[in-house]
Amino acid sequence: MAEVSIRNLLKVYDNNITSVHNFNLEIKDKEFIVLVGPSGCGKSTSLRMIAGLEDITDGELYIDGKLVNDIAPKDRDIAMVFQNYALYPHMSVYDNMAFALKLKKTPRADIDKKVKEVAEILDITQYLDRKPKALSGGQRQRVAIGRAMVRDPKVFLMDEPLSNLDAKLRNQMRAEIIKLRKKIDTTFMYVTHDQTEAMTLGDRIVIMKDGYVNQIGTPQELFDCPVNLFVAGFIGMPVMNFFDGSKLELKDGKYYANIKGAVFELSEFQQKALAQNGQQPCDIIAGVRPQYITVGEGDLHGEVEVSEMLGSEVDLHVNCGGDDVVMVLQTMNLEEDVSIGAQLDFTVQPRLIQLFDKASGNNLIWYDQESVDRHEAHCKRYDF
Ligand code: ADP
Repeated sequence: MAEVSIRNLLKVYDNNITSVHNFNLEIKDKEFIVLVGPSGCGKSTSLRMIAGLEDITDGELYIDGKLVNDIAPKDRDIAMVFQNYALYPHMSVYDNMAFALKLKKTPRADIDKKVKEVAEILDITQYLDRKPKALSGGQRQRVAIGRAMVRDPKVFLMDEPLSNLDAKLRNQMRAEIIKLRKKIDTTFMYVTHDQTEAMTLGDRIVIMKDGYVNQIGTPQELFDCPVNLFVAGFIGMPVMNFFDGSKLELKDGKYYANIKGAVFELSEFQQKALAQNGQQPCDIIAGVRPQYITVGEGDLHGEVEVSEMLGSEVDLHVNCGGDDVVMVLQTMNLEEDVSIGAQLDFTVQPRLIQLFDKASGNNLIWYDQESVDRHEAHCKRYDF
C-alpha cells in the first residue's frame, strides 16, 4: 500500500533557477504515473525530490499519509532506477542485487531467497555470477531493476531507464516493464521524454514544460482533450496538424470553425461548451490529428508532396495553401490516388477539430480540469 501526495512542491536551485513550480499530484496506490516533457522541463528534479536526493524548497510530500520532506532517502521506502544503471562494476550481479539487503543486515538465507526470486521474475538467473561488464544493455537494466525490487519498495521511481538502449531493445523492455508492473504490483513514477513510452506505460501522465505541470490525465484524455498547443503538439504521433489563421465564428447563435475558408459547423457538445464559457468569435489555431482526416470529399484541398506507403497505412504530406498537412490513411478501402503530385480533397469531422485560442494557446474547450471532467461525462453519454 503506497499513496503519494505531492502538494505545492517547489524547487529553487542555489543559482536561483526555479526548476519546478507548484507541483501538485495525488498518486493512488499501485498507480503508474509517467512524468513526460522536453529536456530541462523539471521531470528529474521532481523525481529526485520525491526520492530525497534533492531538498524540497517548499511544499509537502507525503507517503502513505506521512510527511517525508525531512526523511532520509534510505528511510522513505523508495527505490530508484537510473538511466545509467549505476551498478557496482566490481561486484557480481548477485552481489549487486544483494547489496542493499546486506546493508540492512538482512539474514543471509533471506537475502539468498529474495535475490533468486527476483532474478527468476526478471529472467536473469543465469547471469547471477557475472560482472555487469559481461552483460548487454538490456540485461544490465534488468539487474538495476532487480536491485531495486529486492527491497520491496513502496514506491518505484524510474528516471529514463530505457534511454540508453537502442530502439528495438527499448520497445522490448517497454513491454517487459508493462508485464513487470503486473508482477510487482506497487506504485510507480517513471520519467521519460518519449511520448510513446508515456502513452503506453502510464495510467496517468503528468506533462511538464518549463517547470510547470501543464496537464495531468490518462493517455486518452491527453490525446483527446489537450489543454493547450504544447500538450497537443507533444502527445500523438505523427504530430497534430495546426492550422494557423483559422477563425472561430458565431452566426445566429451557432459556432463555426473556419479553416482556410472551409467552414465547419461545430458539434452539439462543442456548441454547448463554448456557449457555457460565453466564448466570443476570435482568431484560433485549429488542430487536427493526422489520423482523423478523411480524403475524397470536403472543402479543403492540396497536392500530395510526400507519400510514404507502410502497407496497412499510408502517410502523406499534402501542401494545402502553403501549409504542410500530414495525414495517416488506412490503405484498406482507399480509393483515392495518393501518389506524389495527386490533387486531394479532404475534410475532418467537426467534433474532432481542436480549437486553440491564438492569443493564449489554450484550448477553448478543454482548458481546465473541470472541462476535462465534463468531457469524461460526455464520452460516457455519447459514446465518443
Ligand atoms: P529534465 O529532467 O526535465 O530534463 P531537470 O529536472 O534535470 O529537467 O532540470 C530542470 C531545470 O533545472 C533545468 O533548467 C536544469 O538546468 C536545472 N537544474 C537541474 N539540476 C540543477 C542543479 N543541480 N543546479 C542548478 N540547476 C539545475
